[in-house]
Amino acid sequence: MTKVRKQGLSTRSIHGHGSRDAHGSPHVPVYDTTTFAFQSTADLLDVVDGRKPGSLYTRYGLNPSIFALEETLAGLEGAEMAWSFCSGMAAETALFLTHGRAGIVCIGDAYGGTLELLSSQLPLLGIKTHLILGSELDELDALLTTGARMVFFETPTNPTLEMLDIRAISAKAHACGALLAVDNTFASPVNQRPLELGADLIVHSATKYLGGHSDLTAGALMGSKELLMPVWNWRKNLGSMIAPATASLLARSLRTLVVRVRQQNETAQRVAESMARHPKVRRVFYPGLVDCPGHALAKEQMHGFGGMLSIEVAGGGEEATRVADRLKLFALAPSLGGAESLVTQPCTTTHHGLTAEERARRGISDAMLRLSVGLEDAEDLIADLEQALDSEIPSMAAT
Ligand SMILES: *Cc1c(COP(=O)(O)O)cnc(C)c1O
Repeated sequence: MTKVRKQGLSTRSIHGHGSRDAHGSPHVPVYDTTTFAFQSTADLLDVVDGRKPGSLYTRYGLNPSIFALEETLAGLEGAEMAWSFCSGMAAETALFLTHGRAGIVCIGDAYGGTLELLSSQLPLLGIKTHLILGSELDELDALLTTGARMVFFETPTNPTLEMLDIRAISAKAHACGALLAVDNTFASPVNQRPLELGADLIVHSATKYLGGHSDLTAGALMGSKELLMPVWNWRKNLGSMIAPATASLLARSLRTLVVRVRQQNETAQRVAESMARHPKVRRVFYPGLVDCPGHALAKEQMHGFGGMLSIEVAGGGEEATRVADRLKLFALAPSLGGAESLVTQPCTTTHHGLTAEERARRGISDAMLRLSVGLEDAEDLIADLEQALDSEIPSMAAT
């Protein structure tokens, strides 16, 4: 008898959807088809009633390009099932509406859109949401006894790269009968697999590392069949289905996910170490640095430290803006995870909507720059940062 060996992440990212499709294609082709024809009404009813798998209607997700993508996505996180969406926010909305209606506790910093959804929109529907900081974890138990049934967080967080303990928080959530959902966008399944650490559900903005080329917008949700099946009708009727062309493009990108992310880990580590030595940098936030507060936990729960880091420019907020404007290889843009390196100043972009006090409470100074390290050569990225930090001449944009 042959023992079934679990394949490695790289193999699963390439062959997770089966080796070839019905017509022999080794990759995921685009079925730009909205509706699928049947031989007979009996055949149609088999699919409609769920007795047989099959393609039916693309907005339902019943499309071969989408099936193939979702099999690969599930394999990457070691999940029983995955659903794909037209954006990360669409995945989060379906997640919260399905499993968060009894109340949601969000821990630590989260993506701006997530915070807005939790604090402004979901309460309009009567959903109680609680936002606490990573330093206020002792409030979690009390909040969970008020009826909240979902705990949600990102780790590492944006933009301070704070680490939250997935194993410890999942134990707390489960003790109160709550689910733990983790946004794994920043780490990607290459660097962190929350389901193995006790999380119940994983959400991704596939727009970032999974897509990896800043050329697609998509989202994903992974978990057990029991937890994902109830999401299906929400996705179907919210109409938040991924387009087949995007599904094919995302499946193409997943084939290089492991090599891309490992390279980004290595380059980010070199950039972080070099910034830590730079006299015009006050502080570097990167879990791969031994003196970073989250380093020990990151070593325990992550397989790599990621491609995201933040620096605090010694000269203050206005100087940070000038540094960002002087960078040439790092493009001034929000978002992350692509082949090209990006820079943002959180106080002017991702966290612009917060008051100065709220930013300070979260440890986000005006002098902070967030870097998404791409796939360029590390030496060139470091040289770009050095010229921007060392330049005495104000840039055009700053004059
Ligand atoms: C970008 C992002 C989202 C939202 O994803 P979209 O694909 O833009 O909808 C959610 N969470 C995190 C951590 C993100 O970076």
